[in-house]
Amino acid sequence: MSVPKTSLPPTLRFQDLDRAYVAGQWIAGTTTFKVNNPATGELLAEVADLSPEQIDQSIDAAAEALPAWSAKTAHERSAILKKWHALLLANAESLAQTMTAEQGKPLAEARGEVGYAASFLEWFAEEAKRAYGEVIPTAFAGKRYSTIRQPCGVAVAITPWNFPIAMLTRKVGAALAAGCTMVAKPAAETPLCALAIAKLAHEAGVPPGVFNVVTTTRAAEAGEVMCRSPKVRVLSFTGSTAVGKRLYRQCADTMKKLALELGGNAPLLIFDDADIDRAVEGAMISKFRNAGQTCICANRIYVQSGIYAEFTARFTQKVAALKVGNGAEDGVVIGPLISAKAVQKVDRLVRDALAKGAKVLVGGAAHTRGGHFYQPTVLEGIGAGMDILGEEIFGPVAPLIRFETEAEVLAKANDVSVGLAAYVFTRDLSRTIRLTEGLQSGIVAVNDSVPAVAVAPFGGVKESGLGREGGRQGLDEFLDTKYVCIGLA
Ligand code: NAP
Repeated sequence: MSVPKTSLPPTLRFQDLDRAYVAGQWIAGTTTFKVNNPATGELLAEVADLSPEQIDQSIDAAAEALPAWSAKTAHERSAILKKWHALLLANAESLAQTMTAEQGKPLAEARGEVGYAASFLEWFAEEAKRAYGEVIPTAFAGKRYSTIRQPCGVAVAITPWNFPIAMLTRKVGAALAAGCTMVAKPAAETPLCALAIAKLAHEAGVPPGVFNVVTTTRAAEAGEVMCRSPKVRVLSFTGSTAVGKRLYRQCADTMKKLALELGGNAPLLIFDDADIDRAVEGAMISKFRNAGQTCICANRIYVQSGIYAEFTARFTQKVAALKVGNGAEDGVVIGPLISAKAVQKVDRLVRDALAKGAKVLVGGAAHTRGGHFYQPTVLEGIGAGMDILGEEIFGPVAPLIRFETEAEVLAKANDVSVGLAAYVFTRDLSRTIRLTEGLQSGIVAVNDSVPAVAVAPFGGVKESGLGREGGRQGLDEFLDTKYVCIGLA
């Protein structure tokens, strides 16, 4: 195994991860691809680039491992998941530094993600023991009805770069707890985190073939192999709505069970009666976490007219003070965007808004330090017809929109094709109830900006996808319900 040229600290234990992990082995690809630090451009590693044939072989490995894994008791699977959870925590600092190096988020956020990611392994280790069936009161004296819940079979996971560990453990924790085996394909930008997780799985005693990580730049071909394979029974995808729709179509012929965690366009509503300190803080966190690159980031910030001037002044002042830089440096809160393409997309949305009448309150352009950095930005004067209202920004840009009434803002908030998360800042109980019921999204956070947690179901409505991850619902995605009808002699 070649030791990558690396800008990772030499003390880090995940230096040598340049191969894919299949059937318990570290395998080379037909070629390799480069992984670069988005903050510095430095080469971090050259990683195995697997061919579609190798992806197919990894599915065979998962299929071979399935009978023995699904035959284990829930308690046995749970014990292995708990060991894996403990290893994530024991290696938290190395994982966090690896994440900051390849993904760019500030170290404090990376540490937070490792804890969040580990919590899914712990949660599903417990949920494994609660995959209950039920006994159904009979309709006919001579018959008895019940259900049992069984693992669906081989599952595949395709994950994005923005939460390179949590998006993986949220899937694999549930799959393995349910008794499924899994092949996971991480984003080509962030394979090192996924390989580090595989290394810890190996150490935790996850048997060969039960969890496989396939690294490749041939995402579309890998997706086709995974969707076409009759051996794969579940596809769990987190990423863009466009790719999610494509995978949905590709899975039709083999009728797979699908969990699709797709894009969002979260509205954040601030009412005149809100606690303004809380609203400012909430908007900052919701908008600027991971430099605005989360699927539940506030994309449209609606502020009621009575509080608009004060909110805007305080929010803009805080945004202007955000420290931009390499996430590995002390005090940095806004890291780079993932790629030059991401910077161009964010800038296109800002240019479009400005051309159509928006005004810059702070920022408004790529950062002067160059590379993949974009200035934390606040725009106002946002109006209908601007692309920024209809697209996921995925960058540190906050569009502010003034509104007058609750009915008006609810209609605007819902006037998009997706529905993942929505935020409301108000102290009015009746309004809270009306909006939690009226907002078309899978998640509503009231006076809070960090709703994601392992114990609660995460997922969207409309074109934000299908299914839920985390919570007790997360296990359902990997279980089939079998109905058993017994006629008495
Ligand atoms: P993306 O382009 O859809 O990529 C996500 C994953 O899909 C990557 O592993 C990518 O591989 C792979 N992929 C790309 N094209 C594919 C194809 N034709 N067939 C199979 N796999 C394919 O999304 P992204 O831009 O990386 O991630 C950001 C998106 O994810 C945003 O829309 C965000 O809202 C969403 N997201 C949603 C959630 C949620 O829980 N709902 C959470 C996080 C992110 P390569 O990287 O190798 O291209």
